[in-house]
Amino acid sequence: MSAANLTAKYRPKIFAEVAGQDAVKAILSRAAETGRVAPAYLFSGTRGVGKTTIARIFAKALNCETAPTAEPCNQCQHCRQITAGVAPDVIEIDGASNRGIDDARRLKEDIGYAPIECRYKVFIIDEAHMLTREAFNALLKTLEEPPARVTFILATTEAHKFPATILSRCQHYAFKMLPQPAIAAHLEKILGLEAVDFEPGAVQLIARRASGSVRDGMSLLGQALAFGEARLVEADVRGFLGLAGQDVFFALMEVLHSRDLPGVVRLLRQVLDQGLDLGFFLRELAGCWRNMFLLRQAGEAALPALELSAEEARAWMDWAGRFEPAYIHACWQMTLEGQRRV
Ligand SMILES: [Zn+2]
Repeated sequence: MSAANLTAKYRPKIFAEVAGQDAVKAILSRAAETGRVAPAYLFSGTRGVGKTTIARIFAKALNCETAPTAEPCNQCQHCRQITAGVAPDVIEIDGASNRGIDDARRLKEDIGYAPIECRYKVFIIDEAHMLTREAFNALLKTLEEPPARVTFILATTEAHKFPATILSRCQHYAFKMLPQPAIAAHLEKILGLEAVDFEPGAVQLIARRASGSVRDGMSLLGQALAFGEARLVEADVRGFLGLAGQDVFFALMEVLHSRDLPGVVRLLRQVLDQGLDLGFFLRELAGCWRNMFLLRQAGEAALPALELSAEEARAWMDWAGRFEPAYIHACWQMTLEGQRRV
């Protein structure tokens, strides 16, 4: 199965299926159930954390033929139209696309009209910070005297770019990046449904690379499964992600500790020759220094926060003890600086 198919197949259709964002899901589900709907919502957060997915589910819950309801049925005509993107009263606008200007015009024209078929007219505006000034003004004018049964959902990765006049009229929800265990749990659930056997380490690698984004995690899982192996194993995933295994970092500590400069150069050459992504390598390395710093300062008390396997924990505890805290801290800061330049 291709990556796109896997993502489409498991796109959540009800709040309960969305990974993470528990507080937002609970509030919106309750709003749909009670009919206490705000004129405008602002969903902010990094890419791939469920902003538009939750917006569409909310639009369905508001307009489902079983409404008022906490979850959409996904069977009725309105639900199916919204899923297919053809509902006349649920209007999706992509602020970032070239179509944005036409969409903004449509926004201005549509904005004052009551819903045609559905209970609520819902505007879902993705990358809303990129709307034109003209569109913003139309939006603001509407929000000053919000029409009944119309709601706006503004999704953005950059909430700070919104004028205060708009912000003050929105219910603002900050979507969180998902912690690695939550992404791993989600991926394991999908693997279970796909009846694919897996090594937990393989899933952890994908979850780590996803860096808080469920969408990236699903996309990587789809790519990993596209090879069609019967079992998802750690070594294969490492190969396909171009991941530096922990071994590379332990080897790096070894040459640094023995002040073997040619050894450091040789090792980095190897990393690049393997085609490892430098940005990822530096991010992982910064994580190693951070872990060592915390372990050096707080000892075992720091372990629960670090999400390490027992074996890794032992190894990093050992390495942390072999460097001075100031040295670890300096290396950590230099690695972060390097990361910023990549
Ligand atoms: Zn329905």
